[in-house]
Amino acid sequence: MDKPKVALSACLMGCACRYDARDNLNESLLKQLDSFEIVPFCPEDDCFGSPRPTMDLIDNGEGINAISNENGQNLSVPILDYAHNFFEQHPDIKLFIGKDRSPSCAVQSGKVYSNQKELLHTQGTGLMTKIALDLGIKCWDSEAYTT
Ligand code: SF4
Repeated sequence: MDKPKVALSACLMGCACRYDARDNLNESLLKQLDSFEIVPFCPEDDCFGSPRPTMDLIDNGEGINAISNENGQNLSVPILDYAHNFFEQHPDIKLFIGKDRSPSCAVQSGKVYSNQKELLHTQGTGLMTKIALDLGIKCWDSEAYTT
């Protein structure tokens, strides 16, 4: 029988796709996912390459966007496009595990700032995760995941 599919932030599998071209390998998490087929994703590497400038989630009062810390550019559209394409290609994803605190992949651990760069809260949802939640997929921050 086919294993159920879990979408997993690729950096947690050891892919060097972070902003600094390093990884977030989490072997104990991978062991917990033995009974799943892992489908890795990394919107930021796909859209912007690695290494790349960092970005933050900014709530401008009308919505939350990923804004470049290098030049203030709104980077949300390519990340959201990547997410929509990913879930179209993998309509049978049963579970989503995202890297904590990432502006793309956090579930409820992202830092959200105001336009003036004041920290508003630390329970933000990354842009890719938001699409997963909208599709009704169960989502976990990697540090909170338990079987
Ligand atoms: S947290 Fe998400 S966007 Fe950042 S490197 Fe990992 S998979 Fe890519």
